[in-house]
Amino acid sequence: MKITLQEVSLNLEHAFITARKNIKSNTSLLIEIYDVEASLTGIGECVIADFFGDTVSSVKADLERVIPFLEQWEDPFSIEKLNRVLARDLKIRNSARSAIIMAIYDLVGKKTGLPLFKLWGLSIEKDYLSSYTIGIDTPDIIRKKAEAAAQYPLLKIKLGSEKDLELLEIIKSVTNARLIVDANCGWTLTKLKDIMSTLVDLGVELIEQPFPPAAEDDYRKLKQTSKIPIFADESLKDQRDLKLIESLFHGINIKLVKCGGLYDALIMAHTAQALNLKVMIGCMIESSVAITAASHLAPLADYLDLDGNILITNDPYIGVKNISGKLKLPTDPGIGVKRREPK
Ligand SMILES: [Mg+2]
Repeated sequence: MKITLQEVSLNLEHAFITARKNIKSNTSLLIEIYDVEASLTGIGECVIADFFGDTVSSVKADLERVIPFLEQWEDPFSIEKLNRVLARDLKIRNSARSAIIMAIYDLVGKKTGLPLFKLWGLSIEKDYLSSYTIGIDTPDIIRKKAEAAAQYPLLKIKLGSEKDLELLEIIKSVTNARLIVDANCGWTLTKLKDIMSTLVDLGVELIEQPFPPAAEDDYRKLKQTSKIPIFADESLKDQRDLKLIESLFHGINIKLVKCGGLYDALIMAHTAQALNLKVMIGCMIESSVAITAASHLAPLADYLDLDGNILITNDPYIGVKNISGKLKLPTDPGIGVKRREPK
């Protein structure tokens, strides 16, 4: 195997503002694994899960450290073993591991001639609806953003500012879209209790991560009484958290970069179903490489939030198509992406 790394800055069309951050671009790390004998290349991507303490330099260092090991890895089909060795023996961070495992799956798909979902035994029977995200902003800009998003039937609204209800009411006044909200840890139980009946009246169908992960007792109480399902994002990193999460939440947001990649995400989606937890497949600000990879999990999801690639202006790849929120999965072998030709 020959390994190549590349760092790309993904530029956002609009600054992305949530209760936790305000960014204009995001750093993406791309890894290519070239199988010399087969003359095939697998591509993988990760961005930085800063909430879990990762930095660009720490993730890059992990990827650089693992190159000599990957170059000697002879059997790309041994994905479980590779995943285990990366995580347990080499202590590779989840985000870096997610890029490697993505590239390996892409390569294995190309070697077998199968798209990833088929390799997994899943069937794609329709176009799957993804939410479209609207970040926090001033009331005027929120109105314009909601009007500009008229074609999307499902909106994910970032909340956690002083103007939450005002912003939601503006959005509701210009669109008939279904609404889900994400407070990114920006609320307290008292605040949520104050606004819960308004959220119900506005038709909000799920709430993502209202409080910080440490507020376990509040989550436990909320799970028993909430009229709207509560989903874990920042409270859920990987498989090991599922046992606790089951008692605190109604659903989980699985992101490749958090959980360690496609192998773990597949297991988590099945485990969540067994635990009676709803499944959202989510994303970061990522290119079409990671978004397309995650979209292969669509048949196992109750919600998809895979819009990171359509919020950027310089996506270096083409993959899953997003047509008014409906995802059309590629059926090419592997994850199904190709490099965008320069204009
Ligand atoms: Mg979230």
